[in-house]
Amino acid sequence: MAGKTLIDCHVHLAAFPDGDNGCYISPKMLKSPLFRFLLWKHQLSPSNPREANRKYLDDLLSELRASRHVQQAVILGMDGVYDQNGRLNREQTDFLISNDYVLKTAQAHPEELLAGVSINPQRMDAIDEVHRCADAGAVLVKVLPNAKQFDPANPQYRPFYRALAERKLPFLSHVGYEFSLIGKDQSVGDPERLKVALDEGATVIAAHACSYGLILYEKFLPTLRDLVKRYPHFYADISALTLPNRLRMLLHLRQYPEIHERLLFGTDYPLSVFHIAAWGRVAIGTLRDMICTKNRFDRQVAVCRGLGLGFRSLGEIVTQPKSSHRP
Ligand SMILES: [Zn+2]
Repeated sequence: MAGKTLIDCHVHLAAFPDGDNGCYISPKMLKSPLFRFLLWKHQLSPSNPREANRKYLDDLLSELRASRHVQQAVILGMDGVYDQNGRLNREQTDFLISNDYVLKTAQAHPEELLAGVSINPQRMDAIDEVHRCADAGAVLVKVLPNAKQFDPANPQYRPFYRALAERKLPFLSHVGYEFSLIGKDQSVGDPERLKVALDEGATVIAAHACSYGLILYEKFLPTLRDLVKRYPHFYADISALTLPNRLRMLLHLRQYPEIHERLLFGTDYPLSVFHIAAWGRVAIGTLRDMICTKNRFDRQVAVCRGLGLGFRSLGEIVTQPKSSHRP
């Protein structure tokens, strides 16, 4: 057994605006039933943002420190929606976790946390922000094309992707169906559209192994196999694959061992990790171990390994900034 060596490349940082952390939540989001459920579940109160933000972080750090397998987590920011002129569109932005908050939080806990900033390529200062974040020790850039309303295949973003390649920052992109966009254009979630970034030399990580997220069928599996074959710098993370709406992809991936060396460990924390994918597919003792493993990081390891899914750690593909030296 490898010990505590893994990096989780997909952990969400959540924060209420506290006056100076640069974060934002729309009034619509604050009222939504899902959001209220999450607050209740994690016992967070928006009326005392600093306290709630600290509790979220403390909970994450204690679960991470208790993990037997996972040493560090990449905490992800979330950029907003930008208009044609590259200016932030607050009206359309539900949720914004600022890069400054991500960087500051990672710098405060260099043993446990790494900064996964978020830069919408549509923003006016996208390339400057790439360099600023790289200088501050970021290890990757996360985006959500469909929720943030941009097309990753837009040729105007080529210089942005070249900047990512130059600074060796992987581009972690959400793919697949987006529930918040029911009835709207879902096509920007097609992983085919990541080819522009790959052609410019950027390392690309497709979130959730390109799982579509709709239970029925995994329409992007052929694209995933094709991108793995054609681009040596294409990866996919295994985050959230134990969820009932994504576990079909997890089961498919067992059949393609050639993809495993391109899979990176991730959880999608704070989401739950389920063991139902393993029911009837592993020995009863193995299943019992999965059920008894309450730590989400360790359960993700147990379920995926138990099902024979191979994966690597982000640390094997990026040169980690030893967060100490940057200004
Ligand atoms: Zn996620």
